[in-house]
Amino acid sequence: KRAEFAALRDVPPVTRDGTRVTLMVNAGLRDDAEAIHMVGADGIGLFRTEFQFLVSAALPRRESQQRLYRSVLEAAGDKPVIFRTLDVGGDKALPYLQTGDGDEQEENPAMGWRALRLALDRDGLLKAQARALLEAAAGRDLNIMFPMVSEPWEFDAARDIVEQQRSWLAERRKLLPAKISYGAMLEVPALAETLDILLPKIDFLSIGTNDLTQFLFAADRAHPKLAERYDWLSPAILRFLRRIVREASAAGVPVGVCGEMGGRTLEAMALMGIGVERFSITPVAVGPIKAMIRSVDRGALIQALEQILAQPPSDIRGALSRWAEENDV
Ligand code: PEP
Ligand code: MG
Repeated sequence: KRAEFAALRDVPPVTRDGTRVTLMVNAGLRDDAEAIHMVGADGIGLFRTEFQFLVSAALPRRESQQRLYRSVLEAAGDKPVIFRTLDVGGDKALPYLQTGDGDEQEENPAMGWRALRLALDRDGLLKAQARALLEAAAGRDLNIMFPMVSEPWEFDAARDIVEQQRSWLAERRKLLPAKISYGAMLEVPALAETLDILLPKIDFLSIGTNDLTQFLFAADRAHPKLAERYDWLSPAILRFLRRIVREASAAGVPVGVCGEMGGRTLEAMALMGIGVERFSITPVAVGPIKAMIRSVDRGALIQALEQILAQPPSDIRGALSRWAEENDV
């Protein structure tokens, strides 16, 4: 199997009926960037910038952030990289970061003062990060996305902070990125209800199924007793995701999935069946997912999901496995 997946490195993820799927990887450290070439991916669809902060004993200076981002862009070559701004706070606490009023123990850290919430309240961090990103991507394309956007105004506020830094650099005649694209992560269910407001503002949408599914089912993603309890292949999750994908696609906004769900074969197949054409997954999953994509007829798969979700059987996973078997996936 391994050799079989390795052989797929240089072939594109195209379905039997000709849809070119975009297959990118999730990364967080400098060396991860090389994985793009090792597994034959289309770029980095989620660069978790907080990794550098989590492995550092002190707050990484702007210069060292910039060096990391530049080296990642260089390693990616002509492939795109989507940088996610800092997703810290809550359970990803930074011991050296004294932010004052958030330091007390949180009862529900995943739903706490984290990610963009913290970044907008203490905007010094985001300003420095924006400068580092803009400088690192001078002369090339820059893709930035914001984590845990819960209401559209939070996206506006974060984008404004980056744009202010861009103006600051422009006034000083510094070389700027050729183009800046702004995206939002959809991992808070409430955001799905305001897509009509959000979509016109953004260049791309990335669904973070790790957080989104824990919030949809109100089930802690790290709780051992709940890990097996609710299946990603459930009517609630698949219907919810389908709505988002349809709405974004109808608005012409590229939409992808960057949670772990997309790295599992049957789950990724189900996601394609509800219209997902862009994935960012863990590098080791690229081979198996590419093999699945190349063996599937997308049109038939979409019909199958349509039927399954119209009258969901109690065991969607079983139904999908049978469909895959019958259709030589
Ligand atoms: C997610 O929530 O699905 C996601 C990709 O972000 P993270 O796993 O870093 O929270
Ligand atoms: Mg998340």
